[in-house]
Amino acid sequence: MTDFTALTDAQGVTTVTWDVPGKSMNVMSLAGFAELNGLIDAALADPAVKGIVITSGKKDFAGGMDLNVIAQMRAGGPQAIFDGVMQMHGVLRKIERAGMDAKTLRGGKPIAAALPGTALGIGLELPLSCHRIFAADNPKAKIGLPEIMVGIFPGAGGTTRLARKLGAMMAAPFLLEGKLSSPRDAKSAGLIDEVVAPEDLLAAARAWVLAASDADLVKTWDAKGYKMPGGAPYHPAGFMTFVGASAMVLGKTMGVYPAAKALLAAVYEGALVPFDTALKIEARHFTSVLMNPSSSAMIRALFINKEALEKGANRPAIDDQSVRKLGVLGAGMMGAGIAYVSALAGIEVVLIDSTQEAADRGKAHSEALLDKGVKRGKVTAEKKAEVLARITATTDYAALQGVDLIVEAVFEDPKVKAEVTRKAEAAAGPDAIFATNTSTLPISGLAKASARPEQFIGIHFFSPVDKMNLVEIIRGKETGPRAVAKALDFVRAIRKTPIVVNDARFFYANRCIIPYINEGIRMVAEGVEPALVENAAKLVGMPLGPLQLVDETSIDLGVKIARATRAAMGADYPDGAVDEVLFWLADQGRLGRKANAGFYAYSEKGDRLGLWDGLGPKYPLDKAQPSLTDVQHRLLFAQVLEAVRALEEGVLTDIREGDVGAILGWGFAPWSGGPFSWLDMIGAKRAVDICRGLTAQFGPRFHAPRLLLEMADKGDTFYGRFGAGKQAA
Ligand code: NAD
Repeated sequence: MTDFTALTDAQGVTTVTWDVPGKSMNVMSLAGFAELNGLIDAALADPAVKGIVITSGKKDFAGGMDLNVIAQMRAGGPQAIFDGVMQMHGVLRKIERAGMDAKTLRGGKPIAAALPGTALGIGLELPLSCHRIFAADNPKAKIGLPEIMVGIFPGAGGTTRLARKLGAMMAAPFLLEGKLSSPRDAKSAGLIDEVVAPEDLLAAARAWVLAASDADLVKTWDAKGYKMPGGAPYHPAGFMTFVGASAMVLGKTMGVYPAAKALLAAVYEGALVPFDTALKIEARHFTSVLMNPSSSAMIRALFINKEALEKGANRPAIDDQSVRKLGVLGAGMMGAGIAYVSALAGIEVVLIDSTQEAADRGKAHSEALLDKGVKRGKVTAEKKAEVLARITATTDYAALQGVDLIVEAVFEDPKVKAEVTRKAEAAAGPDAIFATNTSTLPISGLAKASARPEQFIGIHFFSPVDKMNLVEIIRGKETGPRAVAKALDFVRAIRKTPIVVNDARFFYANRCIIPYINEGIRMVAEGVEPALVENAAKLVGMPLGPLQLVDETSIDLGVKIARATRAAMGADYPDGAVDEVLFWLADQGRLGRKANAGFYAYSEKGDRLGLWDGLGPKYPLDKAQPSLTDVQHRLLFAQVLEAVRALEEGVLTDIREGDVGAILGWGFAPWSGGPFSWLDMIGAKRAVDICRGLTAQFGPRFHAPRLLLEMADKGDTFYGRFGAGKQAA
């Protein structure tokens, strides 16, 4: 069984077919690369072969590099990585030169790539080394180089080839943002050469191979007088591109993503030298990125673990619980969003509110989102009609007949929730699972209103539902395995990422976000420069500073949560200083973005202008400002200690969920791979030392949890100790 096979037809065209046994998608392994190399050598050496077509035996071309290869390469250290990458360059360069005479550039054999569907990562880097790229007109196919999304960059020549093919400016969205395109869009952008009807794909590639001339095989960068499109760095136009790109990359990444910087350096430095030297430069930068712990942490969290959770790593082993018909109670902001994502995934939805008008308004939310899609050409009129037809907006609970899952998103009031729980359970069949989308009320308490608490569960969405990919599933005390499986099958159907946690105040995500926000507000009260707080957060990779975050989620919500927490905790409540600031803002109607006034000032149109200058007079700046690192430690430890406590208390049962949930749920510094990953990077011992310092200066909320102390003693790591690290890249 091999990954690649070759067959030569009567006209002398060798078709090399990539078809990895036992996988639905091709991925490149080192053994696969060696096979490909052997087949190319044989075809180039065989006088009967006129040219080569490289294609796939599957519906797609390839999903990318097998990430285990990257782990293997890393294990060998920097020299092994560099040597391995240079070997790959050698094979792809051989395809590109195709046996032509080095001086005259004549006599090579034409090699075409024929992509039936998706072609990602190495699945595009290989075609980029061919002489012409054909793709089937398959609108579902995605073509691109998404490596940057998991903390690396295209390191098999993709960076150098695309920059030379399109110019640095035009290549930037594909390299720096990992933009993926349909075949037609990829052709318009110049990534690929031809889009043909799927049934003509191989014939078109073969015909091109047979008709190609010597000149067709010479890449622009191998021809005399090559100039980089848009100008090389020393050319005024190119100079401007690189000045702009550096600023843009730094602005977007705050310098915390090593891959983005290294990619830009590889393109810049590569543009100054001949092609083969540029490949070597690319390989050196790639090696340095692979050796950086951020890349393995990002691959582990955002690729391996995210996918494992989506595939049901923590699903009870019981039969399929796919949702056929869904009831949504409450058609407000959350209910309307849940109805939309479900109908989009093909699920019938009954959307209930207390008035017909409110229910209709909830359905109109779907219409508005679909209209946006129609405008952008992403949704057809038929698709829009189809999705809307799946949503029945009503006040009539009898319409819940036949639903197998109910998601409740009415007001955050236990009495209202109890009433709709009883009504909905009576109307739906006895097998229906009931889920609440509460963000603050314990699930086990709400389950008391249920006649079937083993069928009662929390399914906690984040706002806005159509954009946020994390869903937190919460097991109440009595929640049974079928409810968990139902929730997971539902989340899978709507293509989001689930984590499953146990019931406790604020579950997992909100439990960690609230201390982050509070730590930021506390610093303002202490006289720390608010801009220092916000910038320190961003410079450590948080997408929003704590003050901006509370403005976005609203200050009155903060006040509400503070009141409820204080009532529940009594004398132990630690956040009095924080509340003073929040209550003061709320009293003045500065409720955050929705009021166009909060910690930030806003224009009438709602544009954020800058931190509000009214903070200064009320909270005068302390003369001695803390260091950037001190502020960052306070902000990070406020979050990660809560994550460790959640693990210690059994709220989290899987650190993979803790890491993936943190990145997708509240944007915890993605470069770090999540809170547990970050603690592993700095080490438990150093973490405990920092906690001691913070506790001495700022109080007992920074006490290292027992688990962390014990790990520091034993020299444990989270991924080492809790097993999931065994799957790490
Ligand atoms: P919302 O006020 O926008 O919507 C609530 C809807 O429920 C309203 O349309 C209201 O008319 C309807 N409703 C109230 N009583 C009802 C009843 N007896 N029968 C039927 N419908 C009734 O609130 P929201 O922001 O959508 O929040 C809903 C739930 O989701 C709350 O439990 C909230 O804590 C939770 N949640 C909110 C967010 C968020 O960011 N807003 C995030 C996660 C979870």
